[in-house]
Amino acid sequence: MQLSAAVVALVEWLRRITPVEIKQYYWAAMEVYRNPWFYILVAAILLLEFIRPAMRGQRVFSRALVQDFIWFNFDLMFKVAALPAFIGILHIGYTHVTGGFTLPLLRAWPLGARVFASFIVFDFLQWFHHWVRHRVTVFWHFHVIHHSQHEMNLFTDLRVHSVEYIIAQFLTFIPMFMFGLTPFAIVTVALVTAWFTRFNHANIRTNLGPLRYLVVTPQFHRIHHSIEPRHRDLNFGVCLTIWDRAFGTLYPHYDEYPATGVEGVFFATPGGFSPRAWLAGLGRQFLYPFRQLRRRRTPAR
Ligand SMILES: [Zn+2]
Ligand SMILES: [Zn+2]
Repeated sequence: MQLSAAVVALVEWLRRITPVEIKQYYWAAMEVYRNPWFYILVAAILLLEFIRPAMRGQRVFSRALVQDFIWFNFDLMFKVAALPAFIGILHIGYTHVTGGFTLPLLRAWPLGARVFASFIVFDFLQWFHHWVRHRVTVFWHFHVIHHSQHEMNLFTDLRVHSVEYIIAQFLTFIPMFMFGLTPFAIVTVALVTAWFTRFNHANIRTNLGPLRYLVVTPQFHRIHHSIEPRHRDLNFGVCLTIWDRAFGTLYPHYDEYPATGVEGVFFATPGGFSPRAWLAGLGRQFLYPFRQLRRRRTPAR
């Protein structure tokens, strides 16, 4: 069989095995630039960065924004091209092992309650996965890409290496399978959390007042990205701060806006606007963890 025919057959097979709700979720990613809400929300976050910047010297339309916008598009492509297949295989595995188990207690719950319960489980798993990425060296090699940004911006949210992205998606979907959610509920939880974390990565000076005790804020997450050793390995929360409070990883001050980044790991942006140079920069970042692993380097913390 010719290579092209084999690829077509593989794609067809992946399409067949991917559950319909997963297809809807990921194929919606292709529509992102056609959705006016994308532009409205990006403009609103950029406006907040302009009005209340956490770091006054950082420009709204910086080269760092372009660098992370390239990651954003790379992750979109990855989502559309590869993730449905991964999740499809996961769904098959889940059904095979558990017989399509959904938590029987919750079956009778109204949809709103099931969405809320799965969100809580999802947020805890995200917190745990984040903690693991900092504590286990092999995962930190990949996660350091996310932390290496010195000028945080809304697209830093998707400055995430594909390897950790796959693991994060598995953790997202297993509780959703268990709670027997509808495609609408899956998309709702995913979209709300995606835009919330985008807001929390932006260069905005706010701790959201009393809400800071319950939910993650741009100030809270900036502490997590801080370059200062005293902030290291704290504030792992993605949406809620309750897990950091419960497990002793909460930084107790809500008024600090430190510089961000990782000592010794920095990916400079190219001087001009040559697409080739920018894509080469993306390639360097993508390959960085593999090179570090090959050299058995202890990554910077
Ligand atoms: Zn982190
Ligand atoms: Zn982050």
